[in-house]
Amino acid sequence: MRAPATTRSLGHVAVLGGSVAGLLTAHALAGHAERVTVLERDHYPDEPVARSGVPQSPHTHVLLTSGIRALDELLPEFSRLLHRKGAPSLSVPADLGVWQAGQWVSRRHPSEPVVTASRPLLEHLIRRRVLERHPHIDVRTSTRVTGLLGDSERVAGAAFRERGSELGEQREISADLVVDATGRASGAPEWLDALGVTAPPEEVLATGRAYATCSFHTDSSEPIDRVSGFYIVPDAAQPLGAILLPAEDDRMMVTLSGPRANPPPTDPDGFVEFAGGLPHPAPHRWLRQAEPLTRPVGYRHTANRRRRYDRAAGLPSGFLVVGDALCAFNPVYGQGISVAAMNAVALSRELAASGSRLTTRRAQRAVLTSARGAWEVATGADSPMPGAEGNALRAGPADGIRDWYLERVRERVPGDPVVCRAFRDVLFLLAPPSSLLTSRRVLLRSLFHPTIPTPDELSTRD
Ligand SMILES: Cc1cc2nc3c(=O)[nH]c(=O)nc-3n(C[C@H](O)[C@H](O)[C@H](O)COP(=O)(O)OP(=O)(O)OC[C@H]3O[C@@H](n4cnc5c(N)ncnc54)[C@H](O)[C@@H]3O)c2cc1C
Repeated sequence: MRAPATTRSLGHVAVLGGSVAGLLTAHALAGHAERVTVLERDHYPDEPVARSGVPQSPHTHVLLTSGIRALDELLPEFSRLLHRKGAPSLSVPADLGVWQAGQWVSRRHPSEPVVTASRPLLEHLIRRRVLERHPHIDVRTSTRVTGLLGDSERVAGAAFRERGSELGEQREISADLVVDATGRASGAPEWLDALGVTAPPEEVLATGRAYATCSFHTDSSEPIDRVSGFYIVPDAAQPLGAILLPAEDDRMMVTLSGPRANPPPTDPDGFVEFAGGLPHPAPHRWLRQAEPLTRPVGYRHTANRRRRYDRAAGLPSGFLVVGDALCAFNPVYGQGISVAAMNAVALSRELAASGSRLTTRRAQRAVLTSARGAWEVATGADSPMPGAEGNALRAGPADGIRDWYLERVRERVPGDPVVCRAFRDVLFLLAPPSSLLTSRRVLLRSLFHPTIPTPDELSTRD
C-alpha cells in the first residue's frame, strides 16, 4: 500500500481468508486496486450453512448496532437485506430479558436494535453482496495459504496449496499488498518468522470460559414471558451465562457458558440440565419444553488476543492484518463481526482521506484503532473474572478502583435508565468505555444513587 497516484494504484491485492473480515476488506480495497484475489481454504457452500473453516458457525451470533451501521455504510441497505431474508431485529432491552447484577434490566429503558441472524446467513449475505458489487474480485476457494513471499523489507505475495494437492507442488501468487484475514488461528506470526521478521508482540487475556450451543425450534408468533429471548450476563459473582436469541426459520439459538471448571455439557440432556443452574429459572423453563433441532456443540478458544502489528519493529511493508487475525475477543460480548466491519470502514476512510500518502503502517494503526473500544470492553469485563490470566490482565491499584466503579455502574444498569443507556452504548460499541467515567450524570448516579430494584418476573410490568 504505497503511493497510489491513481485510485487503482494499489496494484494487485491478495486477501488471505475469505470470511467476513476478508470479504469486507476486499470490498474496501477493490476500488483502489488493479486486481483483488481472495484465497480461501474452504469451498463456499451455495446455501447459508456451516462450513468447517469457521468452527464458530453453529454458535449464536448477534450483530451489534455499531456493526449494523458499519455494514450499512460499506454495503448500503445491507440491514434491509438481512431483514428480507428473515433475520430478526430486536430492541435491547425492550425485547430481550437481560439479567444483570442479580435482576432483570427494566425493559422500559430506551432501546437500540441488534440483529440476531445465524452466523451462516450473516456471512452468506455479506459474501453475496460483496461479490455482486465487485464481480472482478477473483475468489480462489479450496486454497490453503502456507506462507508469505518476499523478505524482511517487503511482503511480495503468498504461497498456497490447492485442496487435493497436499503432497503436490506448493504454488505462489505475487501481490503488491497482502492482507491476512485468516482468523483467530492465523499463521502470520510464523509466516513472518520464516521471512526473518520478529513476530508482533501479543496481548492475551483468557478466562477459560467454555461454550456450548444448540438450536431449538421456536414458534416466532409466541413470545416467551413477553420477550423474544434472554441474555443472562455472567460476572465475577455469578459465573454461568446464557444467551437465547431468535434466528431466521423459526429457530432459537441457545448458547450456555461456564467457567473453565464448569463447562456446559454437550449431551442434549446435560445441556438443558446445566441451564437449571442459571440465576433465574426462566431460560431453563423454556428449554425444558423446547424441541431441539441440533445436538449441542462446544467451543473453548475464547481468549481475548490482540497482535500488536502496529507496534512491531521492522515489519515489512505490503502487509496488513484485519479481523480476528488482528484482534479476537471473548465471544460472550458478541463483537467480532461488528469489529470486522468497523475495520473495513476505518480502512475505507483512510484510503479516501490519505490517498497516495497511505502506508501499510498507517493503515494498520487505523484498523487497530477501530477495534480498540471492543478490546477495552472485553478485557475490562474479563479482568475481574475468577481464573482470568494473561499479560493483558489489568491488576494494578488504579485498575482496582476502576473495577470497583464499573461494578457500581453494572449494578445500576437494571433500574437506572441513564446508566443503562450509557452502559449499553459502550457494550454496543457506540461510545468509548471512557464515556462511563466522563459523563457527569453517569458518574453521579453510579457513585451516589442507590440501585433501583426491578420486578423478579419479566411478565410483571415495571
Ligand atoms: C463461539 C463464538 C461465538 C461468537 N459470537 C459472535 C457474535 O455474537 N457476534 C459477533 O459479531 N461475533 C461473534 N463471534 C466472533 C466472530 O465469529 C468472529 O469475530 C468473526 O468471524 C471474525 O471474522 P474473520 O473473517 O476475521 O475470521 P473467521 O470468520 O474465523 O474466518 C477466517 C477465514 O480464513 C480462512 N482461513 C484460515 N486459514 C486459512 C489459510 N491458511 N488459507 C486460506 N484460508 C484460511 C477460514 O477458512 C475462514 O474462512 C463469535 C465467535 C465464537 C467463537
